[in-house]
Amino acid sequence: MRTQIAAANWKMNLSFKEGKQLIDEILMQEPEPAPGKKVVFAVPSLYLRTARKKIKDKPQYDVSAQNIYHKKSGAFTGEISAMMVASLGVGYVVIGHSERREYFNETNSILAEKINLALENNLTPIFCCGEALQTREAGTQNEFVASQLSESLFHLTTEQLLKVVIAYEPIWAIGTGKTATSQQAQEMHKWLRDVLAKKYGQSVADQISILYGGSVKGSNAQEIFSQPDVDGGLVGGASLIADEFLKIIRALK
Ligand code: PEP
Repeated sequence: MRTQIAAANWKMNLSFKEGKQLIDEILMQEPEPAPGKKVVFAVPSLYLRTARKKIKDKPQYDVSAQNIYHKKSGAFTGEISAMMVASLGVGYVVIGHSERREYFNETNSILAEKINLALENNLTPIFCCGEALQTREAGTQNEFVASQLSESLFHLTTEQLLKVVIAYEPIWAIGTGKTATSQQAQEMHKWLRDVLAKKYGQSVADQISILYGGSVKGSNAQEIFSQPDVDGGLVGGASLIADEFLKIIRALK
């Protein structure tokens, strides 16, 4: 069975104090999710060290950076490298979130460099893909997400690919309150797995966790996560509210 993951993407929200309280509340209410499940907090980089300390003795919990720079090191004022993130004991990094693609012009080839640096530093990338509304309305979403995968991931060896988590996040469903139906999510996740299988073989594709993201909340998580090719979620807004995120954690298969 693939690892089932509930990943909280806080984006640029919460004060340090609010963030600590949120993690404390979740750890108190759900101290030990079952083995095979993983709860990941993608917090602002400033909070990584503290978040990491809080989950230290909890193997089902981990923390994630929301981004890394696509160069190893050097004169890039204000940026954060994969090595820096890894040196704090962080396990994951979100790569290619649609907000970064759109507002920071991150292309598939820049994202391929980030993926390489993440893997070189033993960080698990949560690689985001997903189409805009226009693309879905044109009916070309499958080809679009397949090219996101092939341009950023398909240079990897099998061994490297097996360390990647994929998050399918239709842009039209992020922060809009508009969720893909569980059928739309399943269709796309199955397609992504087929695309992976074509390149790496079915048994490899069957081991990759593919998360759904886009207005997941306590009330819809179970239905979406119950789909056979959906292995949990990457959650924005609802991950900022302890009770909502707890419901999402408990909805994992
Ligand atoms: C996200 O930020 O990845 C996301 C899916 O946001 P939301 O859950 O708020 O739609």
